[in-house]
Amino acid sequence: MESTTLEKETATELSGDFPLFDKLKNYEHEQVVVCSEPSMGLKAIIAVHDTTLGPALGGVRMWPYNNEQEAIRDVLRLSRGMTYKAAISGLNLGGGKAVIIGDPRKEKNEALFRAFGRYVDSLGGRYITAEDVGTDVQAMEWVRMETKYVTGLPKAIGGSGDPSPVTAYGVYKGMKACAKKAYGSDSLEGKRISIQGAGHVSSYLAEFLEKEGAELIICDIYEDKVNDLADKVGAEVVDPDDIYGLDVDIFSPCALGGIINDDTMDQFNCDIIAGAANNVLDEEEKHGQMLLDKGILYAPDYVINAGGLINVASELEGYNEERAQGQAEKIYDTILDILNYSEENDTPTFTASNILAEKRMSDVGKIHNIYTSQSNFTGHIGDLYKHANL
Ligand code: NAD
Repeated sequence: MESTTLEKETATELSGDFPLFDKLKNYEHEQVVVCSEPSMGLKAIIAVHDTTLGPALGGVRMWPYNNEQEAIRDVLRLSRGMTYKAAISGLNLGGGKAVIIGDPRKEKNEALFRAFGRYVDSLGGRYITAEDVGTDVQAMEWVRMETKYVTGLPKAIGGSGDPSPVTAYGVYKGMKACAKKAYGSDSLEGKRISIQGAGHVSSYLAEFLEKEGAELIICDIYEDKVNDLADKVGAEVVDPDDIYGLDVDIFSPCALGGIINDDTMDQFNCDIIAGAANNVLDEEEKHGQMLLDKGILYAPDYVINAGGLINVASELEGYNEERAQGQAEKIYDTILDILNYSEENDTPTFTASNILAEKRMSDVGKIHNIYTSQSNFTGHIGDLYKHANL
């Protein structure tokens, strides 16, 4: 597996031929399933990227894609990302994702999601689905009527509920690991920390940080949201446009993707960037390298925000909040390993993280070659000899 970033495709490529099998080869996907049920308008694609470590887990996104190529591109990119996220987080899961082409505000209904659930079930557990952009708990309950391979259900029915508290805890621990690396101590007491967004994750995160005695500065595009949170945690409020240029120790992006870009790069005046938002580097290689050159420690987004995945994954073994929190705590060590690797090899942190994730997949993949009595054993004792190639 190549340790490069996810391929960035251009609009030109999307408008021309779409060499699907070349894409699958480049991204190293195992399987892509196209699901169609015209009677209720289901158009879905399930991508199983890699199952070396376990079944492929990843949410189902419902989005009014402009065309099928856009949907395919999204599902391939996202499913590959899930492989790396699970691998670096020490989970025994592979990477997968699904997309449903449609407008969630108009086309979300029971029949559609039950039909999707049947397709998930047909994969016999190779792919486990969950909530994502455009889908919700109600949709997952419909999926669950047709398959057990769904996670992220409400607590009331034995699920893991809102993942934000565990995500925030992981971000908090990852931020402390960055502080340890940058300052020699992981205490955040007295540190000036700016947070972009006053949403679900940042609300819990701000509480952890306030308890530890950090000085907080927050922003949101909604005044009421940011003021409520600021009152709760005693934070200063700034205009969203001013968040990047603040003189702070740590900047925590918890709102949008793509915010570390050519326009914002020169504004950053911090030692550490560590937050929950997905895909914060506009161009992973370019902007990851620029942060390294500027001496800013960047905690790779998919590592530090893995608490959400850890939370839904723990539902598979019977949800236990303490166990999920315990696993999210390990994000501290993972981030430290990545920062150390990055320093020793003078490589951006996201590259370091990809390399370490690939190493785990490769190492664990090798142990699968060792024959045990469980290997391919289908039931009859005589089969053991057949499978042992005697
Ligand atoms: P959320 O929608 O609750 O919060 C995001 C907040 O950002 C909102 O209050 C929104 O108004 C604000 N916002 C949007 N644009 C902004 C801007 N330009 N400037 C300032 N604020 C702006 O979402 P969330 O669940 O807290 O997730 C935050 C981020 O973390 C997202 O990128 C999400 O994909 C990622 N993430 C979340 C989880 C989770 O468990 N919720 C897990 C992994 C990753």
